[in-house]
Amino acid sequence: MKVGILGGGQLGRMLALAGYPLDLQFVFVDPSATACAAALGQHLCADYTDAAALKQFCAQIDVATYEFENVPAQTAQQVLAQVPLYPPPAALDTAQDRLSEKQCFDRLGIPLPRYVPVASREALTIAVKTTGLPAVLKTRRFGYDGKGQCVLKTEADLDRAWAQLGNTPDGPAKLILEAFVPFEREVSCLAVRSKTGELAFYPLTENQHRNGILRVSTPHANDPMQAQAHDYARRVLEHLQYVGVIGFEFFVAGAQLLANEIAPRVHNSGHWTIEGAQTSQFENHLRAVCGLPLGSTELRGHCAMVNFIGRAPDDAAMAAIPGLHIHHYGKSPRHQRKVGHATITANNKAELDARLAQLQTLIAVCEDG
Ligand code: AMP
Repeated sequence: MKVGILGGGQLGRMLALAGYPLDLQFVFVDPSATACAAALGQHLCADYTDAAALKQFCAQIDVATYEFENVPAQTAQQVLAQVPLYPPPAALDTAQDRLSEKQCFDRLGIPLPRYVPVASREALTIAVKTTGLPAVLKTRRFGYDGKGQCVLKTEADLDRAWAQLGNTPDGPAKLILEAFVPFEREVSCLAVRSKTGELAFYPLTENQHRNGILRVSTPHANDPMQAQAHDYARRVLEHLQYVGVIGFEFFVAGAQLLANEIAPRVHNSGHWTIEGAQTSQFENHLRAVCGLPLGSTELRGHCAMVNFIGRAPDDAAMAAIPGLHIHHYGKSPRHQRKVGHATITANNKAELDARLAQLQTLIAVCEDG
């Protein structure tokens, strides 16, 4: 079976690595000549709106999926007219715009921070009355890794925030203002739904960010918030008639989970599943889109995932840490770029913490903040 993937980054690369044992083959569309998934399959180097390239793509594949959520709507429609495409385009429509995403959570009764859409400087002044301060101003579209957002602490920050995000060459930007959540933890729920409606949920994962970028993800076998997270993820998966893996990010505030965002694809906070779960998120995504039964999402033991941001630590030094699994993405070093990750496995929490501390020492000398 041949799987077509829109996007040829590290998520596409790891999907292909999981797919070869299943005898799957891969075709990627990505406009970058250096797309890092290209080593794992055929690479059509073309823009996502290139109709001729998409036709060539669809002619070779049995099923299509994507590894980034900003697939243009017209691209999704064009692909869907020729081959099955999973997850469904409704998931893209919902996840691409923070407003439609939040309206979806509201409709499904999933708690979330107070929010107001903002499209002018005056509207921002009024919106602050609803959210209170501090608050976070975000672009509705194309924000990632903390980009396209700005924290407002006092009234004096409104002008600066509007100047930073509000004015675009095409006129006032479409923004959203959210109440700032003084969260205790950030967690994510990786979940998967098959074509027949079978559901599976990975153990809840706790995530640590720095400068808006995910640094460390640790799954917990018995997180007290897990049942709530699984319930909210189930509502979204069923509402969207979803097929594939979804990443659902939450803030933990007291005894409550507040929804932050969904990613309709495999997710960075689920990379630990490659060595840490019975079936990886990548294999389960492929099982779902190819119409196979899902695999077990159970933990295999203790583990944690650490991202390499900017550049990766020395291989020999990392390989000397027991239980450490290195994943390079084939990307050249660059400031703030995710170039790889490591998953550390261990027999117990103390062993995991000790190994993590060893890795963090190596990361500290090479990472760029
Ligand atoms: P996002 O792109 O929405 O996932 O935001 C990136 C990161 O910014 C999150 O992982 C949080 O650490 C922080 N953040 C975003 N929105 C809020 C909020 N409303 N309250 C507090 N922190 C936030």
